[in-house]
Amino acid sequence: MAAAGHEQVCHVADAATGLRAIVAVHSTALGPGLGGVRIREYADEQAALTDVLRLSEAMSYKAACAGLRCGGAKAVVLGPFPRDREAGMHALGRAVDGLAGRYVATEDMGMTEADIALLNEVTPHAVGRSLEAGGSGDPSPHTADGVIAGMRAALRAAGRAVEFDGLTVAVQGCGNVGFGVIERLMAAGALVYASDISQQACERAAGAGARIVDNDRIHAQSVDVFAPCGIGAILDERSIPELDCAIVAGGANNQLAIAADGERLAARGIIYAPDFVINAGGLINVSDELDGEGYNTERVRFRVASIESTLDEIFAEAISRGETIETVATQMAKARIEASSR
Ligand code: NAD
Repeated sequence: MAAAGHEQVCHVADAATGLRAIVAVHSTALGPGLGGVRIREYADEQAALTDVLRLSEAMSYKAACAGLRCGGAKAVVLGPFPRDREAGMHALGRAVDGLAGRYVATEDMGMTEADIALLNEVTPHAVGRSLEAGGSGDPSPHTADGVIAGMRAALRAAGRAVEFDGLTVAVQGCGNVGFGVIERLMAAGALVYASDISQQACERAAGAGARIVDNDRIHAQSVDVFAPCGIGAILDERSIPELDCAIVAGGANNQLAIAADGERLAARGIIYAPDFVINAGGLINVSDELDGEGYNTERVRFRVASIESTLDEIFAEAISRGETIETVATQMAKARIEASSR
């Protein structure tokens, strides 16, 4: 994959620690490129480059659809991470600092709040600090709030009453986000089916009142809403024909295995809330640390709630233009970025 459309791609090699990373800044048109650091063992450098280019572009669209004054960027560290965590994080922090705020790092796979604190020892351009440290804390409750807001818009687009009492929902993945979604649905009177590959996660969900079903069949459950909240690429040519729901609305990233799966969902008349719009609550939360006045929970709540009206707009556009929902959402993001570039 070429870096078409990216503003900057920077390879990091630190001889002292052995750290190897790639930072991709996709767009800073709307503001600093905000995106997580992903630590992963890649097959080779090309695989890491492909991942970081794809992920950084997706961050631009997520931030733009959420109405944030942020651009999109991402960093990948080619694992394993240097054994000396502190020295490795400091080396990474110096590389981030060298980008002078064009990239602002936050957590992704393999990173913790403690790692963000280590980055902050050498650069101010890292966010995702704990609440105790004056940061934005755990993003997952905000992501779960956003998923519920997105479900409301999806119900409206499907011509249903915006009512959770008696609604049936199948939630795949009962981790931080999935469990939060289950709790909110149960509190609102929904009937929830849930699955996870972790026995412990299933037990916790059952404790909250969810009915546990086979993880391989959760997508085929006969329900109003299927909510993927575990892994990505769950919507593909095999699973989509088996869906027995009116709506797909969940928090997992990259739910469509390939772009054509958006068309497959549309052909089946299923309302799909694009993942990068409905799961923006976490990004909205962490981005608030960048506000000059400091982190503000009320502002975050307001912005997360507005995921509902953003999706209302996207669904209405998709219906009136006869385009897939995913296409309309991406076009909305690109238009906002282009308008700001001009
Ligand atoms: P998590 O690690 O807390 O939970 C993930 C859960 O999914 C775990 O319980 C895990 O056992 C389960 N799981 C893994 N593979 C599975 C499979 N094949 N089938 C069913 N369950 C499986 O992670 P999380 O923070 O809840 O994130 C969940 C998803 O939401 C991820 O795709 C993540 O990228 C996305 N997301 C999270 C946030 C956030 O605020 N945490 C924000 C945006 C997007």
